[in-house]
Amino acid sequence: ITRKDEYNVLILGLDNAGKSTFLETAKTRFTKNYKGMNLNYITTTVGLNIGQIEIAGIRLSFWDLGGQKELQSLWDKYYDESHAVIYVIDSNDRERMNESKELFDKMIKNEYLSGVPLLILANKQDLEDCMGVRDIKPVFQQHGHLIGRRDCLTIPTSGLTGEGVNEAIMWLVEALK
Ligand code: GDP
Repeated sequence: ITRKDEYNVLILGLDNAGKSTFLETAKTRFTKNYKGMNLNYITTTVGLNIGQIEIAGIRLSFWDLGGQKELQSLWDKYYDESHAVIYVIDSNDRERMNESKELFDKMIKNEYLSGVPLLILANKQDLEDCMGVRDIKPVFQQHGHLIGRRDCLTIPTSGLTGEGVNEAIMWLVEALK
């Protein structure tokens, strides 16, 4: 793998959305001989959580940035070095859906990210009462000036059960190649 085959993928979203869990599950699935952490021990990201996956001749370096208010201001600093963004939503947290949407809008307005592929995860789909993609997609992925012409997809996932994790990684690989 040469430098040109290395891509930085930012994992963004509110605290508790499931970013760390998603990354750990992805690493477990796509890394030979890696058994992974016990998902029950994963706590919310404070600071930075990094992981790499090698797949189809490319290396994806994931940067899971903490979602807490105090940390959100740090996101900008990573934007100009990122090749793709995964935005994670807790589909079961209706109370914070607006907060997540505001954060999302702020993020996609950033000029550094204007052409960068964007994958939106309607996460925690294993929870019975969660909002489905059908409800979440129109909130986040509207046709319009904010998303612009970048590649964008919203998919249902669960970092806990692994639902959608393969699809997510394969979509990124295709979008980046
Ligand atoms: P982060 O703050 O975005 O990194 O979120 P974490 O990965 O630390 O997860 C926050 C909490 O949500 C933890 O208690 C996780 O076990 C839980 N969680 C994460 N992903 C899922 C999921 O897909 N389904 C369910 N039911 N819980 C999840």
